[in-house]
Amino acid sequence: MKNKKTIYKKNENFLKYEELSWKKISELDKDKTVFFLPISPMEEHGPHLPVGTDLLIISDAVKEAIKTLNSKKPEFTCILMPAVPLGFCKFNTDFPGSISISSKIIRDIIFSIGSSLGEHGFKYFVVCTYHMALGHLRGIYSAINKLESKYNMKTVEPWGPYFYNNMVQEREPKLGFDTSKEVHACFRETSVMKYQYPYLVDESYRNLQSIYRDLNSPRLIGKKFKDIGLSEGYIGSPARADADYGRWFFSETVNMLASATLDLISGKKKGELPGNIQKTMKAMFWQ
Ligand SMILES: [Zn+2]
Repeated sequence: MKNKKTIYKKNENFLKYEELSWKKISELDKDKTVFFLPISPMEEHGPHLPVGTDLLIISDAVKEAIKTLNSKKPEFTCILMPAVPLGFCKFNTDFPGSISISSKIIRDIIFSIGSSLGEHGFKYFVVCTYHMALGHLRGIYSAINKLESKYNMKTVEPWGPYFYNNMVQEREPKLGFDTSKEVHACFRETSVMKYQYPYLVDESYRNLQSIYRDLNSPRLIGKKFKDIGLSEGYIGSPARADADYGRWFFSETVNMLASATLDLISGKKKGELPGNIQKTMKAMFWQ
């Protein structure tokens, strides 16, 4: 589409899917258009963070990543799709606020959206989630595999491989405590929210005791949070949250989304989930 700049809104340099007509969509260069889909559930995030934490962070990060891509690859058009507030989080539906959608439905949603693009010859689709539950990723990854084999679409979910290969621990500034057990509504998420949405972080976070669980341990799979002693709904040490770290972590997320997309369009090999994570994910029942 030659005149993409003319439909950018003031102060925004990306296109929103819902604002385009079919005509404008049909004029896009199929080989040079990338669609971004933010998707994460409404899910309890401890007593101190909002249920939309994952969706808010990932949606903001995608917008920033698109700005980076527009300057690095101006010949490409990036389209932001409306954020989907859905995901699998059955394990903490014992708290009000969590809405869990089955892995199968997540798969069908991603596949339906991707295939609607693939049917019209579009080639690049980036599924953006901050929610790392394996039941959620199972739905996403089985949709991605189906899309790639059926439509020859290049599709990626950038955060899972980054997160599960412990890249964040390798790259983050030294903190003086073990960050490998920060899992949910934890030090990291509370820090990003303090940076991005300070008015949405309840001050009670300062008094929350550290608590740790390995949710992917076979012993805990299938159990709900309260059954494994997570009475407040967080895993990690939110009391340590720090807005400066939040700024680093947010920009790391932005850079990672942008670089995974650059790799995708330049045909580089995608990051992969580690073997043990793939094995656990595949062994889970569809639920
Ligand atoms: Zn989260």
